[in-house]
Amino acid sequence: MGLNEIKAALKKYDVRPSKRLGQSFLIDANVRDKILSAVDVTKSDTILEIGPGLGALTEGLSGASGRVIAIEKDKRLCEFLRKNRRRPNLEIVNADILDYLDTINIPDKKIKVIGNLPYYITSPIITGLLKKRRSFSHIFVTVQNEFADRLVAPPGGKEYGSISCFARFYADARVLFRIKRTCFYPAPKVDSSFVRLAVRKDGLYLTDEEKLFKIIRTSFGKRRKTMLNSLKSCDLFLSPKDLREALGRAGILHDRRPETVFLEEFIRLTKEADRDRRE
Ligand code: SAM
Repeated sequence: MGLNEIKAALKKYDVRPSKRLGQSFLIDANVRDKILSAVDVTKSDTILEIGPGLGALTEGLSGASGRVIAIEKDKRLCEFLRKNRRRPNLEIVNADILDYLDTINIPDKKIKVIGNLPYYITSPIITGLLKKRRSFSHIFVTVQNEFADRLVAPPGGKEYGSISCFARFYADARVLFRIKRTCFYPAPKVDSSFVRLAVRKDGLYLTDEEKLFKIIRTSFGKRRKTMLNSLKSCDLFLSPKDLREALGRAGILHDRRPETVFLEEFIRLTKEADRDRRE
């Protein structure tokens, strides 16, 4: 749909785009086509679409795939989508995606997730999707540039943090292309990126995930400090001496800043923290 059609549909269904629900509708046909081509959907794919809105991507997705489950929180938009539904393989669910994710339990990695995300809950959606990663093969999302840069950031810069490590642990994350804010109506305040997360097979990194992410979060909680100082408050290490020794055994100089530490090094440190506890 172009801008005029979007405006007409919104008027007809008495929908004022809601900032609270992060509603910005895609109005650029080139970007829509670019997204549909990047997700490379076939008839054997099941798609979970997050926030279909007025269906900018939905029609193309249901034409190309075996099945689309579209989760939309706004019931007026669900009504619009149901009235304009062209194919029986499209299921429209009026729900909050975070609640819906809690109900998913399909451990066969068949589903591709696609969505121009509502920005106010980008982080919980990505975290929730990665927690349920066994159900998904790929996650394709439009997010704000700043969030995309943090997702794919390598160590060494200010974008690198807990979410970069979390994404890297569970997926191979790439920014596929940027999208100008003017491609949406109403235009958001910032430009966006279309990101692909290819979910990793289980077992690439074997570690205690809860402890790993506790160490990562604690480290980045004080990212200006050295590793030794930032982790002093972490109860996984019995004493500053144990922490210093664990850092040494993991090959991490204690005066390094958290933002220079690779995921693989955090994993080594987690193993060393476990060792301290066992001894
Ligand atoms: N996909 C459409 C497009 O590209 O034009 C709309 C994208 S808009 C950025 C985000 C959509 O997510 C809106 O339709 C909004 O109503 C919906 N939404 C917001 N919060 C949601 C939630 N918690 N669960 C499901 N959908 C939500």
